[in-house]
Amino acid sequence: MRILHHGAVNGVTGSCHQLDINQGEALSSYLIDCGLFQGAETAGKSSAQQLQIEFDISAIQALIVTHCHIDHVGRIPYLIAAGFDKPIYATKATAALLPLVIEDALKIGVTRDKKLIDAFLLRLESLIRPINYHQWVSLPLVDSTTKQDEVTEVKLKFKPAGHILGSAYVEFDLIGKAKHRVVFSGDLGATYAPLLASPRSPYRADTLVIESTYGDKNHQGRKDRSKLLKQIIEKCVADNGVVLIPAFSIGRTQELLYEFENIIAKNQHNPIWQNIDIIVDSPMAAKFTQKYLEFQALWDSEAKRVVNKGRHPLDFEQLYTIDSHQDHLAVINYLDSRNKPAIVIAASGMCSGGRIMNYLKRFLSEPTADVLFVGYQAQGTPGRDIQNFGPKGGYIMLDDERIDIKAGVHTISGYSAHADQANLINFVKRMHHKPKHIRIVHGDDEAKQALAGKYRQLLPDCEVEIGGQ
Ligand SMILES: [Zn+2]
Ligand SMILES: [Zn+2]
Repeated sequence: MRILHHGAVNGVTGSCHQLDINQGEALSSYLIDCGLFQGAETAGKSSAQQLQIEFDISAIQALIVTHCHIDHVGRIPYLIAAGFDKPIYATKATAALLPLVIEDALKIGVTRDKKLIDAFLLRLESLIRPINYHQWVSLPLVDSTTKQDEVTEVKLKFKPAGHILGSAYVEFDLIGKAKHRVVFSGDLGATYAPLLASPRSPYRADTLVIESTYGDKNHQGRKDRSKLLKQIIEKCVADNGVVLIPAFSIGRTQELLYEFENIIAKNQHNPIWQNIDIIVDSPMAAKFTQKYLEFQALWDSEAKRVVNKGRHPLDFEQLYTIDSHQDHLAVINYLDSRNKPAIVIAASGMCSGGRIMNYLKRFLSEPTADVLFVGYQAQGTPGRDIQNFGPKGGYIMLDDERIDIKAGVHTISGYSAHADQANLINFVKRMHHKPKHIRIVHGDDEAKQALAGKYRQLLPDCEVEIGGQ
């Protein structure tokens, strides 16, 4: 067995790992994710180079998708264009979200031709195999008639990863004379995340490939963040100004809606919360929210308790969802002239495109407006620049237009969708049979090094490697 990486080795984007199983002459390979490179990791590469499937796909028997973030699934159209026609395994929720994500990616990056997109989506859907969590599935193998000491069966199982709806870590059992279990973590969620339960450790792993996004950091104040969110919003809207929250459509947006519904329900006599409009301006977010509602069975017990009380965490009275571009422009005008508090949630999360841009252009120079960041802002993105220069009274260039930042700028760090260092250590510590081999991927260098050090301390007999080195 060997594991190769075609992405998420030098940073966190472009996730694509390959599990090779050698059976004498025959080689069976499995791909785990096939994501896009983003931000700084695309530097020095043309857009065609970033999308190319530059590895041999002839031995690949299946693609396994851990979750629907674009940096884990964005290269799937190019994989299919390169001739891939094998099954794509995913959890049922991921299987439901995947066509939406790919449709959006095609519209933005490839074509607006509806016929072409529809034809491609049909092709994609014919390959997808939706699987329940906790269910073993046998994978296709090139040659299952080989000798006893070789692998004669490969099985996989998805376990909840608590990162976004449908997210999973994957257990592979390579069965021959002996059994070897390989676990790919995908992206792991953090503890105390709203809506989804945090992941439980596998019972056993012999080889573990694990993400390390926050391998060198621990999240602060996760238990207090809801209180902090409430305080910041109340301060921001005291002057009836608008609060802009840049957020990704999948995951963060639904977590925020869940939090806001909760605050509204608990502040029945607070005029701010009873009057506030919460506007989600993103057709994609609306579609994803619909899927979160369809898959309520996957919510954590606290969220289910709220539903049992007759409340509707993602679909409440003060929530407005904007679909058409016309309505989007109308809302901006409405916000300009209204005299009551409002929160707008729009993509993209790092202000590098999407509908949030029109809001920023209109409101960044308004002293009554506020921008609230709830997610990580990567180096070189407008989001990071607003975070940096806003509080110093600086300006930012958006589409060649200079905008002086007069709006308030705030950041809450407790809403990260990723496991922190303590979570990543516990993921291994709580296994009954601990790995003999760990490979660390999906992180910046410092994060990978720091986490490797912790694992070496925890398991002195385990071989801990950093992917790509
Ligand atoms: Zn992710
Ligand atoms: Zn990721």
